[in-house]
Formats: sequence, C-alpha cells, structure tokens
Amino acid sequence: MSKLVLPHGGGSLRPLLIDGQQRAAELRRAEGLTAVPMTSRESSDLVMMAMGAYTPLDGFMGHDDWRGTCLDMKLGNGVFWPIPITLSCRQDLADSIGADEEVALIDEDSGQVMAVMTVAEKYTIDRQLECSQIFRTTDVSHPGVAKVMAQGEVNLAGPVRALDEGIYPQAFSGLYLRPAETRARFEARGWSKVAAFQTRNPMHRSHEYLAKIAVEICDGLLIHQVLGKLKSGDIPADVRARAIDALVENYFVAGTIIQAGYPIEMRYAGPREALLHALFRQNFGCSHLVVGRDHAGVGDYYGPFDAHHIFDAVDSGCLEIEPLKMDVTFYCDYCRSTATNRTCPHDELHRLTISGTRLRAMFAKHEPIPPEFSRPEVLEILQSHYDSLG
Ligand SMILES: [Zn+2]
Repeated sequence: MSKLVLPHGGGSLRPLLIDGQQRAAELRRAEGLTAVPMTSRESSDLVMMAMGAYTPLDGFMGHDDWRGTCLDMKLGNGVFWPIPITLSCRQDLADSIGADEEVALIDEDSGQVMAVMTVAEKYTIDRQLECSQIFRTTDVSHPGVAKVMAQGEVNLAGPVRALDEGIYPQAFSGLYLRPAETRARFEARGWSKVAAFQTRNPMHRSHEYLAKIAVEICDGLLIHQVLGKLKSGDIPADVRARAIDALVENYFVAGTIIQAGYPIEMRYAGPREALLHALFRQNFGCSHLVVGRDHAGVGDYYGPFDAHHIFDAVDSGCLEIEPLKMDVTFYCDYCRSTATNRTCPHDELHRLTISGTRLRAMFAKHEPIPPEFSRPEVLEILQSHYDSLG
C-alpha cells in the first residue's frame, strides 16, 4: 500500500495515452478524420492529460465543467478544479463537425496528430467572464488573457484518446517523468511526504533556501520545472536543468532531490494557477507545494501573496496536498545569511536582491555576481549560456 497522497479525485491515476497496437490503429484511423488544430497551450494541456497529470479529467471540458470551474472552482460532478481546460476552434470548422463525430487533434506548431476526440459538445463561452474569474483582469496585455481572447469562437468538448506526447519524451529524456514514474521513484526511496518546488528559472541562493526548508520538513523534494512554452528571454530548459543539477550535486545531500520537468504552458494566472499547480503535483505524488512570492504571476496583476491567500479561501479537503507558504527571500549582510521577512528584522540597506533584468545585464557585461546571490557552479553555466547568445 502506497504511503503517498492519492491522485486528485481519490481514484487511480488516469493517463489518457494509449499505446502499442491500439495506438497504431488509432493513428491510421485519425488520417481520415476532420483535423482540429490545437494552440500551443491546448496542446500542452493535452500532453498533461496524456501523462495523467490532469487526473481525473477524461478530455477537454464541456460547458458545465467550464462554467463551474470559472465560477465555483468545481467540475459538474463537484470535484475541485481551478482553471478551465478547454479546446477552441473556429466557427466554420465547428459547424462542419457533427454530433458525436470523432476528430483528430493536431498540434498546430508541429502538424503532428496528438489525439482522437469524440466531440460530445460544442459551445461558446463568455470570454470576459472566464478572464475576469481566472486572471482577475480582462486586460489583453496579460499573456494568459491574450490567449483566451485570441482563441477560436467555439469550444469543443469530449473524451480524448491521446496518441502522442509530442517532443517531450525525446527532447527532455530523463527529465520528462509521468506521475506514475515520479510516484514509483518516491516509493522506491521510501518517501511519503514529498514537496514540489515549481520553477521556470535557474535556482539561485534564495530558491536553494526555500528548497532546503522543504527538505528539512519532508522526506524529499521534487524540483519540477516547466518544459512548455515560456516567455521570450527565459533560460532554455536544458540550461536550467544543468544549472539545477550543478546546485543539487554540490549543495544538497545525495538522495534528497529528484529533478523532473512537465509539459505545461504557463497561463500566468497567479493564485488560480497556484491551485492548479498544487492539484497536479498531488497527481505526481507530492504532499506539499512550495508557494513563494507571486507564484505563477506576471507583471503586477496579483498581490505578492494572493497565491497564499487563495489556499485559505477554498474548501478544506478539496485537495490533499498542502501549500508551504514562503515569504520573500534575500541575502542579508547583517544576518550574514539568506532570510525572509519573517526571519530577518533588518532594513532594505542590508538586503541583497538582484532583479531578473539587472541579472541579465550583469551577465552581458561579465560583471561579477556575488556568491551570496548565486552559487559559482550555477553562475558558470548561466554565463556560458549568455555568452553563446553572442
Ligand atoms: Zn537580517
């Protein structure tokens, strides 16, 4: 009997990927079906379903699930769900699809057939409602809002049979771990309490500090990085992975960390996305999620601790996983240690913080970056990445 948290919804993991002969037959059949293109966000959601990370969803959401998710963070069956997982298409394409027709879902960037879906429902949505509920704004300069506003006019819903996980298993070999695989690794190490550390950046001293707090109170830590599309200027996943490996090898006790990546495309929905991050980490077998300042936020759309507060606002028991709420971290030269607002009483003058923009400028000019901010092994990898950009 596993000591890990149960998958979300209390049942078994539900990976929607089919394989073997069944997959080959479905791929052949898909050639004759109407092709529905998926945006990169939709495609990454499909891969999340394929790997079992969106357990217990069985496909793209219908109207009731969409509406319940937006308004009450609940699916039609009452199961907690904080962000709509929907598939859009153009009106003319939707009109050409009949009731219960099977369609082939195609990744619009690669042209690859990713899944077959039985179209159980076609519906239109109030995009303003979705954006104001999920993103707390309808401002199209918000990258998540922009994608909802630009998507097709009609949503298609229905059960999905996933046929492919796209580039991820090959491109991120060793890093791409499905929920069943992370669970197996946790169990092999005898872990029951596992924290997840979400990252889309390399890890500096402040991240190391948070990660080590999690290691202190759990059996182990999953450093879990975003492999889906990022914002321009972000560090590529392979460079991030090497920088994180260098940190882990040199500064963590062997056997306390597992590094993996997962295929989501960030929505930057702040608090609502923090809940989704917790939900699928539970599917990966994690009992805790580190939630720092402005988790999954962008710009100044969210208060720095909105993603903490939302965990208090949802029904207790809607998730088994718990947040580890962490304050802003920095190095304090008076304390002579990394600290947070909760542990350091000194003023700003003593605190070392370097913004992302400033850090990039420092790499560009080969300015020395203090070891109190980032480990030299990490900086060396990042410096050679920036040098390679020319
Ligand atoms: Zn201090």
